[in-house]
Amino acid sequence: MTVVAIDDTDSRERGMCTTYLAALIAERLGDVDRTLLVRLNPAVEHKTRGNAALAVHTGADPDRSLAVVRDALDGAETADPDTNPGAVVVPGDPGGVPERVADQAGSLIGALAAAGAWRAGGEWTYECLAYRERPRWGTPREVNRESVFAAADRAYPDAWDTVDRTEGETVCVPHTPGPVLYGIRGEDPDTARAVADRIESEPVARRRVFVTNQGTDAHLRAAALSDVRDGYAYRVEGTVADPPETREGGHVFMGIREGDTRLRCAAFEPTKRFRDRVRALRAGDRIIACGEVGGGTLKLEKFAVRHLVTTERVTPACPDCGRSMESAGRGQGYRCRDCGTHRDRAAERTLERDLEPGWYEVPPCARRHVSKPLVRGGFDAPVHPER
Ligand code: ZN
Repeated sequence: MTVVAIDDTDSRERGMCTTYLAALIAERLGDVDRTLLVRLNPAVEHKTRGNAALAVHTGADPDRSLAVVRDALDGAETADPDTNPGAVVVPGDPGGVPERVADQAGSLIGALAAAGAWRAGGEWTYECLAYRERPRWGTPREVNRESVFAAADRAYPDAWDTVDRTEGETVCVPHTPGPVLYGIRGEDPDTARAVADRIESEPVARRRVFVTNQGTDAHLRAAALSDVRDGYAYRVEGTVADPPETREGGHVFMGIREGDTRLRCAAFEPTKRFRDRVRALRAGDRIIACGEVGGGTLKLEKFAVRHLVTTERVTPACPDCGRSMESAGRGQGYRCRDCGTHRDRAAERTLERDLEPGWYEVPPCARRHVSKPLVRGGFDAPVHPER
């Protein structure tokens, strides 16, 4: 076996796409066990543009693999000065890629991540990517919307993020000028292919199913609030301390705390209806927040309600006249000036809450590649999936 890994060939201007190059290489090599599409930590500073790295696991020998990769990279649109493609060819079994390869290859971080991904293991999902005929690159995509929604309905929830029903958006069809016509994400290759088969569109030039870490939350690490740093993505627990506030542009901010540590959390405008869930939080609610942290702010991808505040303290009403009582002084309870009645403490009022315990998430149209949709299951509380 030989592992061929590439990254960072995405050229925004010329419409190249790393997955396309991997598909080409896989076709030319033949004898392919699998093609991996690895989404790298979305928070890292020196990320590649598509934030993806690819690996082809092939029975072709290393010399021939190297020749095919060289040829494909030469043909790739590397004249773009912002593009810095990396390739690694590792002889042997994908499960045995040696750690020292990283030291030898220096800065080819993305390609190395892809080369070592199979060995690192973890959870895998699938994406069936369909590519456009080359003369059509950069022109509007011809994809029949109704066929996409019908195919998505049929395969849900085994295929996810194909569409966003509330926004009426075909999420599987990209807006960038690259070669991808659409990408169908699913639990297994057959489901992804079956959805693709049902989509009516312009001619599909080529198609390949990738094994991916998409939809797995592979980027999230559980941490205490006090250990959170910029540049990583977390799952942290805290109590809402600063209530949600909508600012200019429709972005919603709130703060959580644990002990002396505070963390600002944000749901930005593109997360659409998710912001209503965040706005429904109140000070005192106990939550788990998930997302990447940058500039001291956690960009919410999902959150879980652990405990909801269900009562609030209010000034008591006078038992005789029914009017609102007044404070009798600090720690002195309340009194009614007219009737002379006294109450030791505040009254409690039940709060109507628009949230329930459990998980809430951004809609499909705002999902990060690597974020796990709630509908995939495996969460530790009830889920409220968006579709
Ligand atoms: Zn009174």
